[in-house]
Amino acid sequence: MNRLKKFMTGRYGGDQLSLALILISMVLTFIGSVTGILVISILSYLPLIWCVFRILSKNIRKRQLENYRFAMLMSPVYSALVRLIYRIRDSKTHKIYKCPQCKAKLRLPKGKGKICITCTLCKTEFVRKT
Ligand SMILES: [Zn+2]
Repeated sequence: MNRLKKFMTGRYGGDQLSLALILISMVLTFIGSVTGILVISILSYLPLIWCVFRILSKNIRKRQLENYRFAMLMSPVYSALVRLIYRIRDSKTHKIYKCPQCKAKLRLPKGKGKICITCTLCKTEFVRKT
């Protein structure tokens, strides 16, 4: 354990991009084995090699920049996924309405009957059954 600790001192280690590379490699390995296409199975090693290179790299600043760029690239995807999870979770208690004027999405509780809704952005009022 002490030798591994000594070996890893000054090296970058794992991060989100490394994890994504491992997942990509696993998916490619699975696809390659299911379809039987050898090229995909061979290509599945590339993300894994890149991942090991990143983990063992001593150029920490460059690896951090790569991970930052990856996080910025994945940020909209992550946000959309979180919004979708919240929307599914709230679907029993809340409903999303679109403002007829500015198309803003308004989240309202269900089961309140026919109510007058005021848009928070443009102050347009419209009546909907919740
Ligand atoms: Zn509006």
